[in-house]
Amino acid sequence: MPLIIVSGLPTSGKSTRAKQLYDYLAARIAETDPAKYRLHLISDDSLSISRAVYDLSPDTVRLHTRSANSSEKDARAALYGAVKRVLSDKDFVILDGLNYIKGWRYQLHCEAKAVRTPNCILRVACPVDQARQVNEERLQRMNPHPHKETSDDDATEEQTPPGDGSGQPEGAETPAEPYQQSNWDNLVFRYEEPNPMTRWDSPLFAILWDDTEAQTKRTFDCLWDAMAGEGRKSIKPNQSTIQRGRDASGDYLYILERETQDIVKRILEQQVDDGGGEVKIPLTASGKEDLVVNLPSGKKLALPQLQRLRRAFVGLNRGGIGLESVGNMSSDGMREVFVRYLNDAFGKDE
Ligand code: ADP
Ligand code: MG
Repeated sequence: MPLIIVSGLPTSGKSTRAKQLYDYLAARIAETDPAKYRLHLISDDSLSISRAVYDLSPDTVRLHTRSANSSEKDARAALYGAVKRVLSDKDFVILDGLNYIKGWRYQLHCEAKAVRTPNCILRVACPVDQARQVNEERLQRMNPHPHKETSDDDATEEQTPPGDGSGQPEGAETPAEPYQQSNWDNLVFRYEEPNPMTRWDSPLFAILWDDTEAQTKRTFDCLWDAMAGEGRKSIKPNQSTIQRGRDASGDYLYILERETQDIVKRILEQQVDDGGGEVKIPLTASGKEDLVVNLPSGKKLALPQLQRLRRAFVGLNRGGIGLESVGNMSSDGMREVFVRYLNDAFGKDE
């Protein structure tokens, strides 16, 4: 069953809403057919991923070995693996997290599509100042004596609450880990707002901080209808993303640029004046049939338009999001997915 990608600013109430959605779905499943569906909630917390992995500030970066965001990439690979392990047409998966990178959401969309299950976004929206206040309160609780600065030299020390536990609120289960201030600011800055006009960010359901229980239930009802009810679309596997091999070298980006440029060039050279028709794209492997791009009719495609599509595709497949999935990164493989992406964009493939 579907993949529900929660997305929102740090400390904006995502886990709170994700838990509410979990309880809601558990009840719906129980009343529909308990044997039919399974339910999973995956989050940084469930995988013990520290908030510090998102921290790119120089103090923290030197703790990481490979690159500025290598630990974030590792975290994403862990999340991706956890989703992939359970996602199927019988499993509801709620992925509670920042999910702030559009290319990452796109990869998850493709993963869902590959197992013929829908996905949607649950956008938890909250005023930035409100979210900041939550984090500041958590920081305050962790470190109630600001004159005794937490040491930056030891990442684990940041996560450990003060020894006497005096900063913990009464009755709290585990004190939630705050984001260091610069980390929090940076994540807000880096946040890539989901865009419901794109295939991978739709359908999008938004929940506001002040939404009442009744309003929240209405939103969850709509989500259920779209994902499991009448409104559910059948999903055709159609991956427009490149599965990058383990041996992917530094040549990857170069080949991605070269192959996509070549296809754009062929389209520009071969298209006819009033648009429409097909452009054949040869592959290098012998015995493989040419790929076919179906052009939109009525109008010739202009270079800027094609470049825009090409750049969007390269952006989505730029890698760097830590997915070391099986597969290969051959030139032909890239040509295939780019042609599929274009056909999809030209609306000929649905
Ligand atoms: P996130 O998962 O985005 O970091 P949490 O769900 O952990 O955020 O919420 C942060 C804090 O804000 C928690 O203390 C939670 O109780 C509180 N909170 C979350 N959502 C709301 C809301 N809609 N109204 C009031 N308080 C909320
Ligand atoms: Mg959370």
